Amino acid sequence: MTCPRCNSEDTRVMVKSPVGDEWEVYVCNTCYYSWRSTETPDIHDVFKLKPEDIPNLQVIPPVPPLDK
Ligand SMILES: [Zn+2]
Repeated sequence: MTCPRCNSEDTRVMVKSPVGDEWEVYVCNTCYYSWRSTETPDIHDVFKLKPEDIPNLQVIPPVPPLDK
């Protein structure tokens, strides 16, 4: 299975459908993108990642504390 976002071959099955064998969810070990076997992900070029760029990506900002 090739990651549709970064083209890594380092992907794995994350979860399978609880009943029957309807679908599987795959996750990329390189960029952590996940997708379901029933999808045909069409990643626009602007969202494509190059594996060599991933270590340089900024950390996702934490969610600020919610007012109570
Ligand atoms: Zn990936």
